[in-house]
Amino acid sequence: MYKFNKIQLSLIGLLLSGTIAVAQSPTNKKFIDPANMDLTVKPGDDFYQYASGTWIKNNPVPPKETRWTSFNLLREFNSQAVRNIVEEAAKNKTAAAGSVTKRVGDFFAAGMDSIAIEKLGFNPIQADLDRIAKINNKSEIWNEVAYLRTEGIASALFGIGVGQDRKNVVNQVVNLSQGGTTLSDRDYYLKNDTESNRIRAAYTKYLEKLFQLIGHSKTTAQKKAISVFLIEKQLAEAQLSRLEMRDPYKTYNKLSIAELDKLSPGVSWKNLLSQYKIPNVDSVIVNSLPFFTKLSELINNTELEDWKSYLTWNILKSAAPHLSSPFVKANFAFTQAQTGQKVPTPRWQKMTALTDGTIGELLGQLYVAKHFKPEAKQRMDEMIENLRKAFEIRLKDLDWMSDETKVKALAKLHAFVPKVGYTTKWQNYEGLEINRNTYFQNIRNAAKWNYQENISKLGKPVDKTRFGMTPPTVNAYYSATMNEIVFPAGILQFPFFDPSADDAINYGGIGAVIGHEMSHGFDDSGSQYDKDGNLKNWWSDVDRAKFIEKTKQLGAQFDQYKVLDSIPVNGKLTMGENIGDLGGLNMAYTAFKMTKQGQSNEKIDGFTPDQRFFLAWAQIWRGNALPETAAQLIKTDTHSPGQYRTIGAPVNMDAWYEAFDVKPGDKLYKKPENRIKIW
Ligand SMILES: [Zn+2]
Repeated sequence: MYKFNKIQLSLIGLLLSGTIAVAQSPTNKKFIDPANMDLTVKPGDDFYQYASGTWIKNNPVPPKETRWTSFNLLREFNSQAVRNIVEEAAKNKTAAAGSVTKRVGDFFAAGMDSIAIEKLGFNPIQADLDRIAKINNKSEIWNEVAYLRTEGIASALFGIGVGQDRKNVVNQVVNLSQGGTTLSDRDYYLKNDTESNRIRAAYTKYLEKLFQLIGHSKTTAQKKAISVFLIEKQLAEAQLSRLEMRDPYKTYNKLSIAELDKLSPGVSWKNLLSQYKIPNVDSVIVNSLPFFTKLSELINNTELEDWKSYLTWNILKSAAPHLSSPFVKANFAFTQAQTGQKVPTPRWQKMTALTDGTIGELLGQLYVAKHFKPEAKQRMDEMIENLRKAFEIRLKDLDWMSDETKVKALAKLHAFVPKVGYTTKWQNYEGLEINRNTYFQNIRNAAKWNYQENISKLGKPVDKTRFGMTPPTVNAYYSATMNEIVFPAGILQFPFFDPSADDAINYGGIGAVIGHEMSHGFDDSGSQYDKDGNLKNWWSDVDRAKFIEKTKQLGAQFDQYKVLDSIPVNGKLTMGENIGDLGGLNMAYTAFKMTKQGQSNEKIDGFTPDQRFFLAWAQIWRGNALPETAAQLIKTDTHSPGQYRTIGAPVNMDAWYEAFDVKPGDKLYKKPENRIKIW
């Protein structure tokens, strides 16, 4: 049980240098603006509506978007910032050959040349189509799948890559992963509800359309569509579900090459791995045994012609967004069916995203030179250490964990490595060829380059300077195997963070995000990794059982929440994120209470410090989503919808009840004994 007084007393000395409590912001900016709220609603009845009701009403999803949230607003802002950078780079006639500006400018300009792209039709994939047409025996299917991957053309059938060995993270090993399907969840192949049927119908139409666009008759295209769908359906059947994929032990299967050959009879994995340009490998880690068991059986039992259709489809679907407009339109119609998006993303915005997604660390160098503020990093570093202190205090104070396990938990907490802003060692994509008049080839070159760069890590030490997200990204992450928390430059903006805001705003915003990422190290999955990042149990059995019991209670709470009036949130699928939010907001609150403002009662713009803290949390989760998108996210997203992230943690925190005077009889009220406390 969390005791505020004790913390306050023992921590006076930690009152933080550098965190400035401002009674009134110098810019008079209202960081909590009542004009965004709905004051007609009682916070205890509907905190989401109370905190964000007017904002939600006034901010419908724009036609080119599928959701409109605080994240999207920042992404919009960042894509405009990136647009200015790439347009300027593209216009720069004096940039030296090989310079960052020249390469970024050329990549962007090539993608903006819609006339050249239009003229080419589907010429860029003609050679691939011809090659597949010539395949005349089944063993060539495997070779072709390897060729597609190593040449950066497509990732068909299954995934392959080099990454850390989860049980010995200093080693980098080959990972094989289930895949080979197109729809966003296996359920869409297997279930018969209205939504799955609707998505399948749209997918069939998309398949037929693309086959017709490369010259097949309607009848042939229909036949090919059925073949592809049936193969993908069988792959989906063999895949583990999303829930099963959350189990780090179930998805860790280290097999020797001989064992792998036995698992997938008829395939010589030694030869195949050579085709993938990774010879001399003696073992691999397989994330899904049933999937790889089924693979060779599926190859044997399916007609060669059907496999050729499947391979052709893999080329078509990865190329479609980058070919002439009939392909792009067909691709958008399929996106529209899945997400509800009304109009296509404008070309400039697609290209800024693609530049970031393809050569993000070249673009990132230009981005941080313009938009990164070193003082923001300094403030972040301080907040991260304050959150770490808060977590330590809370850990020591836990009433359900033994001292023995606490020692291990503390060691893990102290080993967390934070990264803020951007990498100290840029990736310069040496050898990657980018030309101003070869848009399609640029993308292929980049995919090929990425594959080679990835497999070159095999047997090498882990590079600890890498960032898994590019600088303009509005997001953050925790890596269990690196035991690191990472915050790219893009998220260090209001409403998450503003150096001129009062502490309540920054702790309720980015502070809770920092706490969220730290808590991932202790969620249902992350907690199974030790301080060095290895998948290795460090818990006593009794403590683990108590932890699991608590997480079940939290899951049951989230199972009660519904979107679109009828679809329940999946408490198990969202477990890690919900633990992250609950732990993160609690930690941020503890850290906030160590600041001057946290210990005062001085209102700003009509709200107490604690009210501002929880309202800051609420405003990072406000937003709207199209119904199609909301329905898809419930299946595929491990995060709960923003509406429930807003209330999910606060309803379990005594401080929230006190701040808003929430009483028995209020709709969100939970009795103190039903409020869940994990971290
Ligand atoms: Zn998370």
